[in-house]
Amino acid sequence: MADTMMLKFTDRAQAFPAKRTPDERAQDFLEIARPYILAKAEEQAARCSQCGVPFCQVHCPLQNNIPDWLKLTAQGRLEEAYELSAATSTMPEICGRICPQDRLCEGNCVIEKDFGSVTIGSVEKFITDTAWDNGWVKPLRAVADRSGQSVGVIGAGPAGLTVAELLRVKGYDVHVYDRYDRAGGLMTYGIPGFKLEKPVVMRRIQRLIDGGVIFHQNFEVGRDASLADLRARHDAVFIATGVYKARRVDVPGADAAHVLEALDYLVAANRAGFGDNVSDAARLDAAGKHVVVIGGGDTAMDCVRTAIRQGAASVKCLYRRDRANMPGSAREVYNAEEEGVQFVWLAAPVAITATGVRASAMRLGQPGADGRRAPEIDPGGEFTAAADLVIKALGFDPEDLPRAFGAPELPVTRWGTIRIDGKTQMTALDGVFAGGDIVRGASLVVWAIRDGRDAAAQMHQYLRARVGQVANAA
Ligand code: FAD
Ligand code: SF4
Ligand code: SF4
Repeated sequence: MADTMMLKFTDRAQAFPAKRTPDERAQDFLEIARPYILAKAEEQAARCSQCGVPFCQVHCPLQNNIPDWLKLTAQGRLEEAYELSAATSTMPEICGRICPQDRLCEGNCVIEKDFGSVTIGSVEKFITDTAWDNGWVKPLRAVADRSGQSVGVIGAGPAGLTVAELLRVKGYDVHVYDRYDRAGGLMTYGIPGFKLEKPVVMRRIQRLIDGGVIFHQNFEVGRDASLADLRARHDAVFIATGVYKARRVDVPGADAAHVLEALDYLVAANRAGFGDNVSDAARLDAAGKHVVVIGGGDTAMDCVRTAIRQGAASVKCLYRRDRANMPGSAREVYNAEEEGVQFVWLAAPVAITATGVRASAMRLGQPGADGRRAPEIDPGGEFTAAADLVIKALGFDPEDLPRAFGAPELPVTRWGTIRIDGKTQMTALDGVFAGGDIVRGASLVVWAIRDGRDAAAQMHQYLRARVGQVANAA
């Protein structure tokens, strides 16, 4: 097929899938974008200029073959487009939904500046949702068990699930251990349904279960087994436990009963969405309350937008830098503003009282070591934001894993992340690999998948070599 079908960016405007109105969105936890229809996906895919050096692909952590699957989509060859996209990703429809595309593939698309990028994420989501609808997503087929070797995966988030899938396909017995009652990690209990509907995650997990991956839920390593136990049980272990220690807000009143940790709040909201009984539900619900969220990252955005959907009386987000310097995705800020969230830029809390957050105005000073302008107090600018629910969303650090796992020999960096060999992804403990947030610090689903993909390849090599050693020794 000639490329005349492509390069339509000059005469076809960029069109993301239509969003539901903010009023409609506030009524439920369903995703905010309506799906593309086929003709729209084909039309938008055809805007791609088929770059010789595709910067979209370079800046995709999975190096997805974007130009080729866009071309196949424009040609209506959706099943082939799906197969190509699935060749590099274990969950393309999830990345299509929740990658911050404006910072990754789309933000680096060459037509972005003058014409608006190709809507890569939305097309990726469309391709794989269509594949699920049409039965093109095939069951996992493990090659006949060749070695009887087994792998233990600690953590059922995107990094752990990716290792589980890729090693199961290679014929290993794969056991996944997770301390939550459902698999999926932050995709299940952190990220709200309006960004990622839960059935989308659950069908991926079901496919792994059907493919023979054995899940041990409510199993906390450190409580139900030590790392040494799992090493004795398995030929290799992958640690992907994420980062869960909430950063503190060090002001008076920060531990009061109406002040919540972001993840406690989001987990409760997600559990309610599953129909679970949530203990302490009234305290963890924003209905009818004046809510102030402290922080400016993706977690803060998810909290403010959850509060809107729970029927909060008002929702404010306090962030100590300005809009241009906030870490959260600009698209998410825009969505939040549409939904009625009020952003108070350049504001930092100084105390939390029973009725509100006393805050100081900030200004941006000289750039710090990280190149970002450091916020400093702007004297005389104190104010109070009324609140009967305050949510702390300042980000997460690793827990003390060597202590939790009963494994003081597990090496960590000074930030508490697990130290690995960058090439093999193995820790200093033989056969123990790691990836995802527990290695990178709080990051993204797509990077967790990338780590899982790389680690699975390294673990396979390691396990094959071990079979060889055992055979030689016999
Ligand atoms: P996780 O997803 O954190 O999974 C770790 C798993 O390990 C969990 O299931 C946990 O129960 C389990 N575990 C931990 N300790 C133990 C133990 N001792 N024993 C057994 N199991 C254990 N990323 C995006 O790309 N897009 C987004 O829109 C986005 N939104 C986010 C919103 C929120 C609120 C948060 C908190 C994060 C968001 N992220 C987003 C980041 C993303 O979710 C993470 O980077 C990603 O999930 C990390 O994957 P992981 O597999 O390393 O760990
Ligand atoms: Fe873009 Fe993420 Fe998909 Fe890569 S995985 S193409 S960065 S949406
Ligand atoms: Fe197509 Fe944009 Fe990627 Fe170029 S950078 S190949 S135009 S999607």
